[in-house]
Amino acid sequence: MKDLEKILKELESKIVDVEDMTTLNDIRVEYLGKKGSITQLSSKISELPVEEKKTFGAELNRVKNRATELLDTKRQTLEERALNEKLASENIDVTLPATMIPTGAPNILEKIIEEVEEVFMSMGYDVVDGPEVEEDHFNFELLNIPKGHPARDAQDTFYIEDETMLLRSQTSPVQARTMIAAGGDKPIRMICPGKTYRRDADDATHSHQFMQIEGLLVDKNISLSDLKGTFDVIAKRLFGEEVETRFRPSYYQFTEPSVETDISCFVCKGKGCSLCKNTGWITVSGAGMVHPNVLQNCGYDPSVWSGFAFGFGAERLAMLKYGIQDIRTFYQTDLRESRAFDRKDV
Ligand SMILES: [Zn+2]
Repeated sequence: MKDLEKILKELESKIVDVEDMTTLNDIRVEYLGKKGSITQLSSKISELPVEEKKTFGAELNRVKNRATELLDTKRQTLEERALNEKLASENIDVTLPATMIPTGAPNILEKIIEEVEEVFMSMGYDVVDGPEVEEDHFNFELLNIPKGHPARDAQDTFYIEDETMLLRSQTSPVQARTMIAAGGDKPIRMICPGKTYRRDADDATHSHQFMQIEGLLVDKNISLSDLKGTFDVIAKRLFGEEVETRFRPSYYQFTEPSVETDISCFVCKGKGCSLCKNTGWITVSGAGMVHPNVLQNCGYDPSVWSGFAFGFGAERLAMLKYGIQDIRTFYQTDLRESRAFDRKDV
């Protein structure tokens, strides 16, 4: 019993001066470890006379608990002290620059498409989507381009099976689908931005996949001057209030008359430069009055209804607007390109 009390006193005085965890752990092993002095005393119980066993056992337990308590309290004190010291030494310098997290940027094409969509939506147009794997019927036949027609040669098409299914070579089939869905008796204002595919070899100005933004307006008493007014709005919104617009006669199978639409060169203001090839004008889209055959094919009576259609190449618009030289820029997923055009001032 006296030994127990002595051991406890000794432990208490040792703990007082402990300053670090390693020493504290050593002390724990010295007293409570397998061969520790308190543990060792347990084995002595069996040597004691029966009447003393109980008292000694109880006392041994008390000392063991007390020793554990003393060691635990000291450990807590040391841990708290270490934490406080760490907090005191770790000042955060709020003036240090933050770690840069790499971020993406909107694709330039998506930007220009959104811009065009906004202009048309402000004029009451719907944005419509359609299938990229399309039937020949919608891509060509309804649009006044029957099988064997030479106009098909101009659009080297990716056919999928037996010349009935194809990757759409233009977004015009969406116009046909919209007219048919409207049932021939409702006015239509729609644009359809989307991917199109042609068997072109990729180079600076050609891509086998490109984006068109086509539009269609069908109503009563629509004339070419409505198309001119609409084109004027979009040209000025995209390229600046000072640009002028003009139409040149052209030919497309699904419009009659057909035009190519030009804007005055926004770089040289008409004087002549490399962008406009010294003509002072830049072609930005093809357009025209919807061919009566197309109206008829899609359920609209051409003696009652008329309309205009137009098609922009999204890449061409973006290349002109942002001075991009190579169409492949849009498809090479180089984030630096997107970031370069993601500034507020472009
Ligand atoms: Zn020019």
